[in-house]
Amino acid sequence: MKVAVLGSGIIGTATAWWLAQAGHEVVVVDRESGPAQETSRANGGQISVSYSEPWANPRMPLRLLKWLLSDNAPISFRPRMDMRQWAWGFAFLRECLPSRLAPNIRAMVALSEYSLATLKQMRAELGIEYHHLERGILNFYQDPAEFDLSQDAADLMRDFGVDRRVLTADEVIQIEPALAPARASIVGGDYTAE
Ligand SMILES: Cc1cc2nc3c(=O)[nH]c(=O)nc-3n(C[C@H](O)[C@H](O)[C@H](O)COP(=O)(O)OP(=O)(O)OC[C@H]3O[C@@H](n4cnc5c(N)ncnc54)[C@H](O)[C@@H]3O)c2cc1C
Repeated sequence: MKVAVLGSGIIGTATAWWLAQAGHEVVVVDRESGPAQETSRANGGQISVSYSEPWANPRMPLRLLKWLLSDNAPISFRPRMDMRQWAWGFAFLRECLPSRLAPNIRAMVALSEYSLATLKQMRAELGIEYHHLERGILNFYQDPAEFDLSQDAADLMRDFGVDRRVLTADEVIQIEPALAPARASIVGGDYTAE
């Protein structure tokens, strides 16, 4: 089959690769002059199965309200008279219901594990060399309330097979000694070997 893939970010190029592997004739189209010039160009580069906490979670509606009133928020929202935008917003809010947290985390953990496995396979097949590290992920917390809340999601991830360990502040420093000067403000952390 002849397939046109729109967008040459990580999703488009990976899709094109797997379609080509399956024997299809693929062309990738992009508005930019080269591949991966937009979101995929300069992200954090983390592939973290343990980080499968959905943005749509029970704490998010209140956070979003605070962010809407802040000049320094990590997201911006521009309401428009666009039915699709409002439908998306309501669907997002529905996924923030407490009953949706566990199924969404389960789905994200499964997807992340699959994604990690296919990345490793692709890396081996193509011999891609880059400065990748497999040191695990350390999250540390300075706000006791945030630390407690994050452990709800961590508990669920453990139920779904992710080895995410709760750490004391001293254990955080043992893993990352560079945090020692901030020791007094660290309340705890969690770590996952990945
Ligand atoms: C600051 C930041 C840090 C992040 N850190 C991480 C991280 O550590 N780990 C992680 O897993 N994810 C991270 N992400 C998320 C991740 O970068 C994105 O989920 C991912 O890059 C999205 O890839 P994409 O291919 O869907 O989109 P893009 O990379 O944006 O690709 C879309 C492509 O479509 C093209 N396009 C769009 N419209 C048209 C059109 N009309 N005609 C033709 N071409 C078009 C664009 O030019 C672009 O090349 C981060 C994101 C940000 C912003």
